[in-house]
Amino acid sequence: MYSLSEQDLQIQARARQFADELIPLEAQAELAGGEVPADVEAKHKARAIELGIYASNLPASVGGPGCTTLQQVLIQEQVGRVTNALAWVVATPPGWLPDVATPEQLERYVRPAARGERDECYAITEEGAGSDVDAIEATVRRDGDDYVLNGVKWHVTSFYCADYAFFQGKLAGGDHDGEHAMLIVDLPSPGVRVVRTPLYMHSLGSAHHHPIVAFEDVRVPVAQLVGAEGDGMSFAYEWFRFERMMVAARCLGAAERLVAEMTAFAKERVVSGRPIAQFGAVEAMLADSLTELFAARALTYETARSIDAGADVKVAHAQCSMAKLYASEMAGRVADRAVQVFGGRGYMREYAAERFYRELRVERIWEGTSEVQRSIIAGQLIKRGPERLA
Ligand SMILES: Cc1cc2nc3c(=O)[nH]c(=O)nc-3n(C[C@H](O)[C@H](O)[C@H](O)COP(=O)(O)OP(=O)(O)OC[C@H]3O[C@@H](n4cnc5c(N)ncnc54)[C@H](O)[C@@H]3O)c2cc1C
Repeated sequence: MYSLSEQDLQIQARARQFADELIPLEAQAELAGGEVPADVEAKHKARAIELGIYASNLPASVGGPGCTTLQQVLIQEQVGRVTNALAWVVATPPGWLPDVATPEQLERYVRPAARGERDECYAITEEGAGSDVDAIEATVRRDGDDYVLNGVKWHVTSFYCADYAFFQGKLAGGDHDGEHAMLIVDLPSPGVRVVRTPLYMHSLGSAHHHPIVAFEDVRVPVAQLVGAEGDGMSFAYEWFRFERMMVAARCLGAAERLVAEMTAFAKERVVSGRPIAQFGAVEAMLADSLTELFAARALTYETARSIDAGADVKVAHAQCSMAKLYASEMAGRVADRAVQVFGGRGYMREYAAERFYRELRVERIWEGTSEVQRSIIAGQLIKRGPERLA
C-alpha cells in the first residue's frame, strides 16, 4: 500500500518494532504520573540510535541518517503509536540548523545532537504571545561581544532535560531594532531560572514538563546568534512546516493504534449475547474512524512526497497546515470514539483510549492551533487558487 519503496518499508518496520517494544511499558508509566527512570530512558534512546531511526531529519553530512521527508513521517508515525511520550527518545533535532549554523555551532550543537549527546528546547512562546509570535516582548540587546537576553517564556517543553535552548527575542537597538533574533543559550546559564512548573493534561515524565522560564540579563557570546540579526522569524517558519508534518504523522500512528484496539475489543466484547461489533452504532464508529485515518494518511504521505520532489515552499506551507489540521482533528475524533467503544474501560487510565483522549488534545493547539492552520490555508487558497494546493 501507498507505493512505499523497499527502503521505506525497512525503516517503517524498524520504527514499528521500536514502538512495539515500548507499548507494554505505558500503563506503568501512566500510573507513575508519567515518570520513567532516567537509566531506562537512556536505554530506549540507545536502542533508537541502534535502529537507525534517531535524528532522522538530520542529513548525512552532519551525522544523521539522511532520511527523506516521507521516511521521517513513517518513523514519527510509529512514535505516535506510543503514549506518555515514551517514544520521544526518537528525537528530531533542529533540522533547519545545519544550513545556517556556523562551523562552531555545527561542532557544538548539530553533530552532538545527531549522535544523541545533546538535546534542545524551544523558548519562544510568552504569556502574551503564542499564535502571534510577532507579539513577543523578550529582548536581545548587543553589549560588546555579547548579547544580553531578557524575557519570560512559557511552555518550554523538555527544559529539564535540555542542554541548550533556542531563545527568540526582539532586537533592542542597532540596525535591526525591533526585528527578531534567535540565540542558543547553554543550559544551565546564569540568569536562567524556572518561575514555576505547571501540570498539564497529559502524564509525562518530569524531564518533559513545560515550565515557565525567566531569562534575566542572560549574557551569551555573539557566536551564539543563529544566522543573522533579523532572521529569527524565518527559522520559526521552517520549523513549523517540519513540526506540523510530524504532528500529522504522530496523529496517524495514534489513530491507527486506536482503530486496531477498538476493533479487537468490539469483536470480543459480548453484550446481550452478541459481539458489540455487530451493533450498527458501533460499526459506524469503527468505519468512520478507519475511513478518516485513510484520508489523513493519504494526505500526509502525499504532502511529504511533494516536499521530497521539491514543492514550492508556500505550497508546502499550506499543505503541511492541511495535513496537521486534518490529522490532528481526525485523531481527536477517533480517540473520542475509542473511549465510547470501550465503554467504562475507555475511561480507565490503564487503557490506551483514555490516555490518547487526553494526550491528543494538544495536537490541535501546539505548532499552531487549528484556527491558525485554517487561516494559513484560506490565505494561500485566496492567493493561489485550489488547483495549486489540492
Ligand atoms: C503542552 C504544550 C507544549 C508547548 N511547548 C512549547 C515549546 O516547547 N516552546 C514554545 O515556544 N511554545 C510551546 N507551546 C506553546 C504553543 O505553541 C502555544 O500554546 C500555541 O501556539 C497557542 O498559543 P497560545 O497558547 O498563546 O494561544 P492564543 O494565541 O492565546 O490563542 C487562544 C485562542 O485564540 C485563537 N486564535 C489566536 N489567533 C487566532 C487567529 N488569528 N484566528 C483565529 N483564532 C485565533 C486560538 O486558535 C485559540 O483558540 C506549547 C504549548 C503546550 C500546550
